[in-house]
Amino acid sequence: MKNNYLLLALTLMLFGANAQKISKLPEYSLSKKEIEAHIRFIASDEMLGRATGEVTNNVTARYIAEQFRLQGLKTVNDQKDYLQPVPFENTKPVKKGEVYVGNDTLKWTKDFIMLSGKATKLENLPVVFVGYGWIDEKQNDYKDLDVKGKVVIAQFGVPNSDDPYANIVGSAKKGEFAAKNGAAAFVQLYNLKFPWGAITNFMGGEKLSLAPESQANAEMPQIWVSNAHLKKFAKETLTTLSMNVSEVAKKTVMSQNVIGVLEGTDPVLKNEYIVLTAHFDHVGTGKKNGKVTASDTIFNGARDNAFGTTALLSAVKSFTAKRTKRSILFIAYTGEEIGLLGSKYYAEHPLLPLKQCVFNLDCDGAGYNDTTKVTVIGLDRTDAQAQIEAGSKAYGLTAINDPAPEQNLFDRSDNVNLAAKGIPAPDFAPGFTAFDAEINKFYHQVSDSPETVNYNYLLKFCQAYIYSARLIGDRPTAPKWKAGDKYEKAFNELYGK
Ligand SMILES: [Zn+2]
Repeated sequence: MKNNYLLLALTLMLFGANAQKISKLPEYSLSKKEIEAHIRFIASDEMLGRATGEVTNNVTARYIAEQFRLQGLKTVNDQKDYLQPVPFENTKPVKKGEVYVGNDTLKWTKDFIMLSGKATKLENLPVVFVGYGWIDEKQNDYKDLDVKGKVVIAQFGVPNSDDPYANIVGSAKKGEFAAKNGAAAFVQLYNLKFPWGAITNFMGGEKLSLAPESQANAEMPQIWVSNAHLKKFAKETLTTLSMNVSEVAKKTVMSQNVIGVLEGTDPVLKNEYIVLTAHFDHVGTGKKNGKVTASDTIFNGARDNAFGTTALLSAVKSFTAKRTKRSILFIAYTGEEIGLLGSKYYAEHPLLPLKQCVFNLDCDGAGYNDTTKVTVIGLDRTDAQAQIEAGSKAYGLTAINDPAPEQNLFDRSDNVNLAAKGIPAPDFAPGFTAFDAEINKFYHQVSDSPETVNYNYLLKFCQAYIYSARLIGDRPTAPKWKAGDKYEKAFNELYGK
């Protein structure tokens, strides 16, 4: 009994001390009005869904940049502006033309798609088979082959991977190898289980991707042939190929990541950076993005991801008012919805050495169905779990782990691009316990608008995000992955462990 009283007294004392400390922090006095204003602007109808490449996406970036300036963030390395230009390329196939193999005529979309290249007419050009047509440190499928001025034919995908996504992305990249070796055209024989109709929808139409670093394959036709025609491309019998195809039109489109930095207070720890990130883009307007109604065609993206953007802006305000020992790098990413491309670009073009960035807490999610929780994708994968749990608990929220591991959400959010470089990087998302009807009611729907948001919850969510990041920014040692994590090897390489 006595012991219990003592325990109770101690708990009350600790709780009291803790509560008092929290109440002195700037995030404690964040106002609901203020976060509501961010959401009502960023996710407004006037912003037309902030699609990457659209002017309203750039307006959002400017809004964030001016909030950074208002709060007194510095640009990194004294750059002129907070905006990091991210060049994209819009490609649009004209879809006229045919490929001739033996006596057969292949039609655009039904039988083949062309990913890039100029209008081209080739008659009976010799073909060369190159296996995968892959080049890396271990393998060069072009070694000892003369493909100059010829049609190069490759099997689809990349060596040693059965991941469909990796094979699709890898195949799109392989054109560069063919072009650099002088090929007149590059034909890949599609053979994944993923249906041809789906692949033509996904890869065959107008699309936006990061501008290629190399223009090597800008002119050479790059063609994928449907698996229905594999037999016609037998190595034993096929010697020449002809085609007459129209161009895939291209134009450069600029977007921006928004980046600011705040110096830490500790003379030593300030050389380490906590990276706080959230994407601000969304999918835009119109039925190409999903279900629209007679009165609403705008995908406002309040939850996805004006939420995270607001948490990031609130973090900027709180941390500039009271700094952490470590420095903080704030990044609002563009291009998430078209394939995590803003974060990918940053990971390849960092403004600060990645090895000085010791942790990334990304803020992005599909929505919420439980306002007593936050869902942290990768919660148990780093040793910052304790700070995230404590930071959430302080605002009455329980941090739970990924409820749908089969969806592989960790590798489907922006955090993965820094995680793959080795940086411990969970994703802090609003409380969801399953992909249920409540989530799907708003996830990528025109109904995901500011009017439908629970602002009491959003306030707590922002506070929990900031306080978790604060505890991590002040902890004595830098976070690390739990032993055996798939990104531990990259971590050891990055930090020289
Ligand atoms: Zn989304």
